[in-house]
Amino acid sequence: MAHIRTKIVATIGPASESPEILRELIRAGCDVFRLNFSHGLHEEHLKRLNTIRQAEKELGEPVAVMADLCGPKIRVGTIAGGKVQLMAGRSITIQRQPIEGNDQRISTSLDELIDTAQPGQTILIDDGKILLEVERVNPPDEITCRIAVGGTMSSGKGVNLPHTNLSLSALTEKDIRDLEFITKHDFDYVALSFVRRPEDIQALRDRLNAASCPAHIVAKIEKPQALDHIRAIVELTDAVMVARGDLGVEMDLPAVPVVQKKIAWLCQRAGKPCIVATQMLESMTTCPTPTRAEVSDVANAVLDHTDAVMLSGETAVGKYPVETVGMMNRIVSEIQDFHDLTARPARVELTNAPTEAAIAAAVGEILAVDDISAVAVFSATGATARMLAKHRLSKPILGLSPDLRAVRRMCLYYGVSAVAVQTPRHTGDVLELATQLALKLGMAEPGQKMVVVTGRPIGKPGAANSLVIHQIPAPA
Ligand code: PGA
Ligand code: MN
Repeated sequence: MAHIRTKIVATIGPASESPEILRELIRAGCDVFRLNFSHGLHEEHLKRLNTIRQAEKELGEPVAVMADLCGPKIRVGTIAGGKVQLMAGRSITIQRQPIEGNDQRISTSLDELIDTAQPGQTILIDDGKILLEVERVNPPDEITCRIAVGGTMSSGKGVNLPHTNLSLSALTEKDIRDLEFITKHDFDYVALSFVRRPEDIQALRDRLNAASCPAHIVAKIEKPQALDHIRAIVELTDAVMVARGDLGVEMDLPAVPVVQKKIAWLCQRAGKPCIVATQMLESMTTCPTPTRAEVSDVANAVLDHTDAVMLSGETAVGKYPVETVGMMNRIVSEIQDFHDLTARPARVELTNAPTEAAIAAAVGEILAVDDISAVAVFSATGATARMLAKHRLSKPILGLSPDLRAVRRMCLYYGVSAVAVQTPRHTGDVLELATQLALKLGMAEPGQKMVVVTGRPIGKPGAANSLVIHQIPAPA
């Protein structure tokens, strides 16, 4: 069924920033656009944001926009000539003072690396392609490493220090400057990179609150340390991203699929949206078709009950951005029916947001025993729609809200089609409105039944407390 969908997040970059491509991406099934603050200037991000909002308006389809903060990502400094060849077995020194690097001496964006490095520790460069082993430390100036696995190292490549506890804040000075920009503009989600502790989420939450910014927080799980506090992090955040790129470099690769399943399960129990990210259709960056393994990876994420699957370089710099979103859409649609047959019973833990969670559980029970075509929810904040999404209902959810920001947030929620509406005057008017829209969107037909969830008094945030099984009148 076309309306029940795992959502698609696409990263926007030079390959996809034009108005034409953005419109085509929405038509192909993109629900959330990610702007990656690891690259680009504020004016470039603003231009992309405005073009997305224009496309949204033209097509009349709400979309969410996510600002992804760079976080304390460590990078190799500038290399003379842009790149250099590192030979296995040789030594290389990493120094504190910035230097134009060569094959014997480089600097990184993080001073602290020199102070915390210990002999025997590994340092990974360029997503783990190059492996260094710390041999000698000479703080505060430099460390010397043996090149265990060599390769080409270019300026600005990422550096990972697996299992090292740097006392870095999850919000760097750059992130704080970026946040000043983000909170002034129309972003629906802010993603926090390299989250390690619940306090990291709180620090971002405090800043968003101080700026009266309603954007929701996406906690990117890409450090093994975050797994030690994963329950508290899921509790505190609004949504979670399994950021498998950095996670896969920092922890044992075969453990990553297990972590993905565990996080998706925890999110389901806690009623929080979950995004699975990185290299999902990587080969489509240069080829018009994906590999079979990639197709299985996307399908598996759907089976893991994730709300959304994400594209990175595929849509930001790839040759086939629209085709990639189209392919992803076909994969998630194809697995959908099978998924409905095998879905394990989803239970949201009734600890947080009890009323919404209880209502959502009740809707799940009703759908199991009654012949219902669609579920409509009038959700001022989107919270009830979020809970319903976690129940993996076998029927589409129509999420209605007068708040455009809530409508856009709902774009991330599994199975929810969000529509902006005016607040009806009476609860009874919600039935009328829900019916009309469900018919218009082809979610239900005259004579069929739908469940309508609403709150009394109508429009009061967090007040979803009643549900009606509504028979749509058959034509006379
Ligand atoms: P990134 O995060 O693309 O911002 O690095 C995702 C990941 O690490 O998987
Ligand atoms: Mn990352």
